[in-house]
Amino acid sequence: MKISKIILYDEPAVPEIQINDLVNFLQEKFSVKVETRENILKFSSKDSAFKIAECKIFNLRKDYEKHHPSNEEVLFEESNVQSTTNTENIVMYDGFQLLKVLADFIPEAEKTENVFHIFFTNKLTCTYDKSDLRYHGRALIASNPSIISTTGIIEAPAKPRGYYYDLMTNFTQGVNVETIKQKYKGTFLEYNDSRLTKIVQGYLLQAIFYYETGEPFCNNLECRLFNAHWQKDLLYSQLKVGSLCKIHQKVLQDMLLN
Ligand SMILES: [Zn+2]
Repeated sequence: MKISKIILYDEPAVPEIQINDLVNFLQEKFSVKVETRENILKFSSKDSAFKIAECKIFNLRKDYEKHHPSNEEVLFEESNVQSTTNTENIVMYDGFQLLKVLADFIPEAEKTENVFHIFFTNKLTCTYDKSDLRYHGRALIASNPSIISTTGIIEAPAKPRGYYYDLMTNFTQGVNVETIKQKYKGTFLEYNDSRLTKIVQGYLLQAIFYYETGEPFCNNLECRLFNAHWQKDLLYSQLKVGSLCKIHQKVLQDMLLN
């Protein structure tokens, strides 16, 4: 493996990540050294808070243009508070821009090919897709460093069609969103969901496979590298199946030998 050490940067706002369990998971899977760091943003200066606020996006139909943040927005980033329980009013960030800003926080000595950095964040990372000319929420921005967005995991893969249908049809009748959520409970991830840590394992595998082989995903739903566009598929491949397919188990074996 190219990687000899993995550094995980915690997101304390999302304890469901269970970072110490993830350390064990990675050590067992890849037999490499794994270290954790506190949330890197905790130490951010006004200058870096400004740079992070610059990554915000407002128009989903337009490619990234540097945002000029207000003082309030900079203060928001400095305080590093983010609502993680409210689907409405979620702030969106350009994932690749955010990656550049976060990469600057990594000490020079650790910016080497064999050290793999993974940032957890509850910020919603999005990427602009040139094929349909719009931004999409992403759970994973794969590179070195990589970002795993817990809000992306919850918001990016779609919930059941019936859920959206019920939301639309009941909207005018004043039915509470919570009532509809209750009806579909368990079929998608929610904020503070204890299943998150197991799901995150799958995204860690995808990030590492991408770095090692150039290919993060698998077309097989029976594989943790499956690129789920639906919550149903995400829960199935990560929880019900919870392992790599035969092909990727072999890829992993070869990876560990080289
Ligand atoms: Zn596979």
